[in-house]
Amino acid sequence: MDKDCLFCKIIAGEIPSAKVYEDEFVFAFKDINPIAPVHYLFVPKTHICCAKKINPENSQYVAKIFEAMAEVSKQENIESYRIVNNCGEDAGQSVMHLHFHLLAGKKMGWGEQSLG
Ligand code: AMP
Ligand code: ZN
Repeated sequence: MDKDCLFCKIIAGEIPSAKVYEDEFVFAFKDINPIAPVHYLFVPKTHICCAKKINPENSQYVAKIFEAMAEVSKQENIESYRIVNNCGEDAGQSVMHLHFHLLAGKKMGWGEQSLG
């Protein structure tokens, strides 16, 4: 828990969110500014700033996130989805707590500008 981190505060319930999934390792909620009809954020329940900091000690959280995304998409009958991780400022990371965007509900193109 990082006391200055937005997503740590959301996990702790200090800031409200529209939760879609939670287990021991993973918290998932609706993105406040969706860019697709389905736009969820999956975050580890430990503060990892970004993908660069994934290591043998914490990579279990990443595996659990991918398991959770498979479970949620199955439960919600989401046939196709895109998983996005922005790592670093130039890549578009705006919240420095590792998160994976799950995007679905529309036909998506492929390429740098195709996510919006
Ligand atoms: P990124 O730009 O990859 O770091 O993604 C951060 C995401 O967090 C953006 O898509 C924001 O819309 C989303 N976001 C920021 N604040 C909140 C919040 N309070 N609740 C839900 N999503 C948020
Ligand atoms: Zn955090």
